[in-house]
Formats: sequence, structure tokens, C-alpha cells
Amino acid sequence: METKAEQLPLFTLAADGPAGPAMPCRTGRPTPRGRQKRPGVQQPSKGCETPRHRRRRHPEPQRHRERPPSATAGQHHLRQRAFEVFAETLFPTRCALCDAPGTVLCDRCARHLPYIDATLACPRCGAPYGRVQCTECNPVLMTPFGYEEPPWDGAVSALVLTEAARRVVTVYKDQGERGLARPMAAIMGRYLPPAWLAEETAVAFVPATPGARRRRGFDHAELLARELSWIIGAEWAPLLAAPRRLDQRRLSRTARIQNMRASMRALPGATMPPTVILVDDVCTTGSTLMAAVEALRKGGARTVYCATFARA
Ligand SMILES: [Zn+2]
Ligand SMILES: [Zn+2]
Repeated sequence: METKAEQLPLFTLAADGPAGPAMPCRTGRPTPRGRQKRPGVQQPSKGCETPRHRRRRHPEPQRHRERPPSATAGQHHLRQRAFEVFAETLFPTRCALCDAPGTVLCDRCARHLPYIDATLACPRCGAPYGRVQCTECNPVLMTPFGYEEPPWDGAVSALVLTEAARRVVTVYKDQGERGLARPMAAIMGRYLPPAWLAEETAVAFVPATPGARRRRGFDHAELLARELSWIIGAEWAPLLAAPRRLDQRRLSRTARIQNMRASMRALPGATMPPTVILVDDVCTTGSTLMAAVEALRKGGARTVYCATFARA
């Protein structure tokens, strides 16, 4: 019998897929992970790895730049293409899991990811086997969070956070392989129930702390949300303010939840759509998502769904 994973279409949307609408996030990718490990390849100096350098590595069609063609623009394009070919020769795109060249997530690895069976998953929290009776969002477990049930209207996760799923997430957000955002969002997109896709639905994200964003050079959840919004044809909307840096190491579980709750708030001046799909990469305890959902509700959102790439 064919498994669910085998029924999934291959990732034509991966690294070399069709370009989406003009979005700032589609301008390129940072240094691929594992570059330092590759033997026999001369490493670029650190000073070379500026954002400008990165942007040039994988330029994509920049439709939003509607400048008339000129000799200068043509030369610039040629230089960009030459640089792209040069960079791809030196540092070829590789699969996050098996290191095969050519794509950020090869078809074979994508087929064998630990997909959650949506027909068995809990519709309320997305737990893999909670469709009939969920052991992860019952009132006993929700009590420390101050709820009887999760504060959102529905939640889905695409994968169980196994080693492979964790590796994809790590390569994406900590090793800067931004090209993974598209296949990750494509996987998430297949798990969204059609009922979530109302006309006025907007896709928002749980913002990273300013420090994490600076360290990584991008906001991983923001990029996922952008890609997902394009895939499902919904509006992308930054609705939450970046939380301040939290040092939660010495706090009890309850104090952590309170701390998280206090740090999350709606973006001042944001127009809150009635229905929001809130995106994050991973759901572990759910406390971050709960705090974010609460902030969205305070800001005026009526219906809030959560979508994560993987869940612990
Ligand atoms: Zn692979
Ligand atoms: Zn549940």
C-alpha cells in the first residue's frame, strides 16, 4: 500500500522552482551550510560574506524593479549571472539531509520526512494521534497555561520533530539556507484545512527576538509565512511586535509562560484581519504560540489558526 509520504507530489517548488510574486524575501539566499566542511575548496574571507554578497549569489527575477532596460542594467545582469554561475560552481546547492547536489531538499529525502497523518491528528492542537481522544490538549495539560483548551481555533503541524525534521529546521534557520523556506512552506500548505482559507484570511508569523534576527540575518518564521501566503494566495501580514529577549533559564514553567505572555503584543497600528493563520517553524510546548494567539486576539483577531512545520 502506498504510504502518505509517497502520495505527496515531488518538490517542483524547491530551489529552482518558478519564481513567485515580487517579494523582498526572494532576492537570494545566504551562505549554504556545510561550506566550511567541504575539503579542497578555498573559503571566502569573512569580510566577503556581506549581505550584498549574499544577495548576489542567487539572484532571482526581480519583477518589482520596473526600470527600463539600459546598457548599464544589461551589464549588471550579466555580471550577476556570471557571479551566480561562479558561486554555484564553487558552492553547489545541496540537500539539507543527504547533501546531494542540485536542490535544498531532494525528492527522495522529502518523500521520507516524518509526515503527520492528518486523518489521525488532533484537529485542535495538531498532535499526531489525537483525532478521537487527544492526550496533549486536554484540560489537565492546559491548566498550567491558564486554559481549559488551547486558545486557538485550530492547529496543524506537518511533521513530527524527529532528527530529520530537526535537521531541516536547523539548516534553514541556524545555517542560513533560506531556500528551504519554499519547500517547507509547500509542505505546510498541504496541511491547511480548506475551511481556514476564507477570503479575508491573512498569514502572520511569530516574530523572532531582535537579537535572533540580527544573528541569523533574517526572521525564519517571517520568511515561511511569506512563502506560505504566496502558495495559498492569502495576504501576508506582520501583526505581532518582536518580543524582547527573554532569559527564561531560571524561571519555573508557570513563570516562563507568564513571561512569554507579557512579551508578546500586537504590532502597534496593525490592522487586524478577522482570520489569521499564525506561522512558526516548530511547536514544542506551545507556550509561544499561545502567547502570540492571545496577543492577536487582544488586537482584534476573531479567528486564529496555527500552522507549524514540525511539532515535538
Ligand atoms: Zn536528500
Ligand atoms: Zn490535541
